[in-house]
Amino acid sequence: MKMELESELDQTPFKRGKVKDIYDIGNGRLLFLFTDRVSAYDVVLPTTIPRKGEVLCKLASFWFDHLNVANHMVNVTGPNRMVVRNLKMIPVECVVRGYLYGSLYERLAKGEVRIPVEPVMAAKLPEPMFDPTTKSDVKDEPITMNQILDEGWLSREQLGELRVKSVSIYGKMSERAEKAGFILADLKLEFGFDARENIVLADSMGPDEFRLWPKDNYRPGRSQESYDKQPIRDWLTKKGYKKQLDQARSEGQPVPTPPQLPPELVEETSKRYIVAYERLTGMKL
Ligand code: ADP
Repeated sequence: MKMELESELDQTPFKRGKVKDIYDIGNGRLLFLFTDRVSAYDVVLPTTIPRKGEVLCKLASFWFDHLNVANHMVNVTGPNRMVVRNLKMIPVECVVRGYLYGSLYERLAKGEVRIPVEPVMAAKLPEPMFDPTTKSDVKDEPITMNQILDEGWLSREQLGELRVKSVSIYGKMSERAEKAGFILADLKLEFGFDARENIVLADSMGPDEFRLWPKDNYRPGRSQESYDKQPIRDWLTKKGYKKQLDQARSEGQPVPTPPQLPPELVEETSKRYIVAYERLTGMKL
């Protein structure tokens, strides 16, 4: 088996995602290789984060085992390798938000959305909000439920199921996070159809897909300390890269080359991924 996988890895990946290299290993199966690459604002950065791939693989496996929801995992074949069922992916990122943060906060400030909540950064929303986006290699954009139906990707019933499943998964994961001393501010899920058209939870479920805040330091009205890649996003904003990127995108210009991350930020991010894993699962990495 090992030999087989090694030779698969000699092949060109079937798909190179921003974070995962994906190999088609036949029989309707894919091999996910979780790399140490990191992306922010949908741009892959030139610096890798040690042990990140391992955390993402093991944390995804933990959630798939504990959520009690139909999912794509077949088995884990190495510290950063997972075999999954090859699904027909639904081209929507199922974002669920419990707090007013990130792009939702910006959209509210610009009057693009209406939510019955005070416009205070990191305020808790009255209830978890299903806030889907498109899946794009350039930049995910918000999409309404009606637009999804108009695209013909899903029936009304399937879209309802997707929403209920997403909000319920957010609820279960929030509970676990709460017990581990965290707030799960929001998350992004992906689903696909299996051969029988069942909706199956797919992709990965790690700090790249959610925002995790230590409960003790939670203070609405400011940027939160977080156990995910938010420190990288904040650093890129401070360095002016986010502004450059937004400008280039709005003018249809190529993505500006992202800067190398400083070693202290790399070390701190790696540490945060590991701490998040260990506290959420109660296990040592
Ligand atoms: P990205 O960050 O560009 O989405 P990733 O590195 O996360 O890239 O790559 C994962 C890709 O694999 C995504 O396009 C995702 O939709 C797709 N994917 C996830 N799970 C499955 C699955 N079970 N079957 C087929 N494609 C999948």
